[in-house]
Amino acid sequence: MERQFPGGKRLRLVLGDITRIPADAIVNAANSHLCGGGGVDGAIHRAGGPSLMRELDQIRARSGGCPTGGAVATSAGNLPARFVFHAVGPVYRDGGRREADLLAACHRTCLQMAEERDLRVVTFPAISTGVYGYPVAQAAPIALAAARAHLEREDTRVREIVFVLFDQCTFDAFARAL
Ligand code: ADP
Repeated sequence: MERQFPGGKRLRLVLGDITRIPADAIVNAANSHLCGGGGVDGAIHRAGGPSLMRELDQIRARSGGCPTGGAVATSAGNLPARFVFHAVGPVYRDGGRREADLLAACHRTCLQMAEERDLRVVTFPAISTGVYGYPVAQAAPIALAAARAHLEREDTRVREIVFVLFDQCTFDAFARAL
């Protein structure tokens, strides 16, 4: 499923495993300690290999971690990409703790990091909707609005933003929101 934007830019939804889809940058749903976890983070580290964690160890030693709403970049090891952007989405509690702002912010941060590196294709998982508990029906329109706002910018060099959704239920929620 996809949506076209002026200049041939595209927003796409794909059902699948984000570690298998070529991109310039693959976004990971990390945690603020950058210390690895299950879910998509575990899959990305398994497929990417140990160099990702070695780079994150150095970033952690320098800066202690990454705030919620932010992201840090590493190389992509064995993944079919140049970079992994380890984004820290919010843990969902009750919706009254700026969760929506923080979820939008981590998407914007990653897209800005793509601009800074002059990248064309960026893939995202459904950040925060797994262990972090964000209801996917609420998260999907926030993630898509951030992607859309970026693609509507005239100065963007990003050509394609792909949300790679791991299960049908998540895909359907994104498809409805799109
Ligand atoms: P968070 O802690 O941000 O909630 P999770 O990894 O628990 O992160 O879940 C985020 C989303 O990533 C969930 O929809 C989960 O099903 C999905 N996911 C898990 N593995 C993969 C994968 N290999 N590719 C794409 N999405 C994945």
